[in-house]
Amino acid sequence: MRETNWAGNQTFTAARLVRPRTIEQVQEAVAGASAVKALGSRHCFNDIADCPGGVQLDLSTLDVETGLDTEAATITVPAAARYGDIAVQVQAAGFALANLASLPHCTVAGTVATATHGSGRRNQSLASAVSGLDLVTADGEVRTYEKHDGVVVGLGALGVVTRLTLDLVPSFELRQDVFDGLPWESAYEHFEEIQDAGYSVSMFTNWARDTIDQVWVKGAGQPGADFFGAKAADAPRHPAHAAGIPAGNCTRQLGVPGPWHERIPHFRLDFTPSVGNELQTEYFVPVRHAVAAMEALREIGHRLATVLLTSEIRTVAGDDLWLSPFHGGDRLALHFTWQPEEDTVRALLPVLEERLAPFGVRPHWGKLFHHAAEYPKLADFRALADELDPDGKFRGPFARRHVFGER
Ligand SMILES: Cc1cc2nc3c(=O)[nH]c(=O)nc-3n(C[C@H](O)[C@H](O)[C@H](O)COP(=O)(O)OP(=O)(O)OC[C@H]3O[C@@H](n4cnc5c(N)ncnc54)[C@H](O)[C@@H]3O)c2cc1C
Repeated sequence: MRETNWAGNQTFTAARLVRPRTIEQVQEAVAGASAVKALGSRHCFNDIADCPGGVQLDLSTLDVETGLDTEAATITVPAAARYGDIAVQVQAAGFALANLASLPHCTVAGTVATATHGSGRRNQSLASAVSGLDLVTADGEVRTYEKHDGVVVGLGALGVVTRLTLDLVPSFELRQDVFDGLPWESAYEHFEEIQDAGYSVSMFTNWARDTIDQVWVKGAGQPGADFFGAKAADAPRHPAHAAGIPAGNCTRQLGVPGPWHERIPHFRLDFTPSVGNELQTEYFVPVRHAVAAMEALREIGHRLATVLLTSEIRTVAGDDLWLSPFHGGDRLALHFTWQPEEDTVRALLPVLEERLAPFGVRPHWGKLFHHAAEYPKLADFRALADELDPDGKFRGPFARRHVFGER
């Protein structure tokens, strides 16, 4: 039977799935293949991880040397390590990762390859914590990079990452408070203050109701019972609470303090993530256009609401990584969790992109989108890919279309 991604909307067309146990086996598999691609935990919603007729490498059984360096405040992890598992190890040593995505189940390599992010005005994407990595390139050689802005968000198109080193910060605690019914006018008027109200802030909406359904504030202090007109929730909430989804798989709320790794992700490691049966899209616009972009989406709110489970609004700090959607400045993240109706969703994407085009929109590399964006460092990335992979063995159809400009 053919392998699929987590959402089940992509069936991979690779000829073989190989599970190397050693670096030498990775090197052999790469050198001997004409088309090859690493596969993470398969949480992307598009064909970014596919490798038609070629070899997909599942690195979950790969044995590599790893460890936590308390002096340097770094941890070196296998490419297929999951954030939820590393977080437990990091916390036990008195450290933390600066941020996490809403889901702790994805692999580190897949996450950083697609510039996956969490929330927080001052928090960069998870890729920004990478201070080094080992990459098996097309010729089968292992290349080690330190602080290289071009290789981290590699989309799997530069080679196979076997291990990564992540920067750590001292461990910290957060509490998570959820508020119901934030008036849109408050969200517009107090946008900056709301984003600054916590270490990580997320707003959930279906774009059609009169108020923003929920605001999740993950921070050190008590934000108060009245949050810019929204009321403190009296029970735990799922992000898609309005669609009737129970909060059982969500991390602890109601203001109970806890370690960073049990509060930053929305979903618990030991439960099925999110609702399972869904599709996702996410767009990023410079944060200075936040209010105008939200207004533009509300104008088509009723159309969006018919196919949405929920939508999440976050902020992400800018970085210098070449293919990061946050390259060059802070961005507003507009995320859509769709019902699993792919044809309807795909028909909506050009409409959404047209609405957001005036703001210089960039899509999330790992989710459904129509047109990729132009990046200031795209030519440098292409040149690096040509150098490391002259025959294009790591270029699946996704990279050919969206990065290398092929039809
Ligand atoms: C329920 C859910 C919640 C999510 N929440 C968030 C969120 O909060 N924020 C956010 O930004 N995104 C989020 N995402 C998207 C998700 O984080 C990304 O899709 C991420 O890339 C998934 O990592 P993965 O390990 O599943 O990668 P895969 O989908 O398996 O692969 C993604 C890409 O990484 C490459 N890759 C994987 N491993 C390697 C390797 N060893 N070497 C080289 N390339 C490699 C693949 O070739 C492919 O190109 C969510 C997804 C789901 C399903």
